[in-house]
Amino acid sequence: MTARTASVLAEVARERERQHAKWGVQNFPPELWLMVLGEEVGEVNNAALEHHVGNLPDLSAYREELIQVAAVAVQAVESLDRQAEGEGERGEG
Ligand SMILES: [Mg+2]
Repeated sequence: MTARTASVLAEVARERERQHAKWGVQNFPPELWLMVLGEEVGEVNNAALEHHVGNLPDLSAYREELIQVAAVAVQAVESLDRQAEGEGERGEG
C-alpha cells in the first residue's frame, strides 16, 4: 500500500466515524444502501458539474463527496456483514 493510499483510507475512516456519530448503527437492506449510495454519487456528479461550468473554483467539493461515497460503501459492507452474522435485524435501525 502506498502512503497516498493509506492517507486516503484514513480520510475514509474519519468520514465513516463522522457518519456513525451522526446516524449510529444502520442495518439496511441492499436496495436501501444502493439508494443512499446513489444519492451520494449524485452529489459527486453535482460537484463535478458545478466545477465544470465554473461555479466552483476547485475540485475540493468533488474530492470531499468522493470520500463520502467511499465511507457509505464501507458502511454498506459493514451492514451486510452484521446481518450475515445475525447481529442486526434486516431493515432499519
Ligand atoms: Mg455527500
